Amino acid sequence: MMKYQYSKHGDRYILSIANHEDLTAAITAFCKENDIKCGAIYGLGAISSLTLRYYSPVTKQYVDKTFNEQMEISNLTGNISSKDGEVYLHLHVTCGRADYTCIGGHMLTATISGACELVVEPFPGQIGRYLDSEDTGLNLYKF
Ligand code: FE
Repeated sequence: MMKYQYSKHGDRYILSIANHEDLTAAITAFCKENDIKCGAIYGLGAISSLTLRYYSPVTKQYVDKTFNEQMEISNLTGNISSKDGEVYLHLHVTCGRADYTCIGGHMLTATISGACELVVEPFPGQIGRYLDSEDTGLNLYKF
């Protein structure tokens, strides 16, 4: 079984990530395969595990937390850029739990449990990133 499957429609791709795959790893592999260095990504799916990163501007540290439970990705929104020559993904998600409440935030990764259907919109050119160590501590766009 392939990690993902896709088809191209005009300039955009429809991307389906296979069951049990690591979401971030699969998107990264897809971008590498298709030489996408800049773009937008959005979609939905279902997962059994989610790791969020909460960033504190005070400590300039991420605090990671993993949720091992079946959830719906009610929305995934992100962008694609590059840093140090590698694909750099910035992904945010909102996920619905069994009790119909949601959790969400900056996503490190997730494990597909069911399906994951995404749209990837590549843009011409590329955008890099730099570590803004002086102020935010974040990897910001380098225009
Ligand atoms: Fe973020």
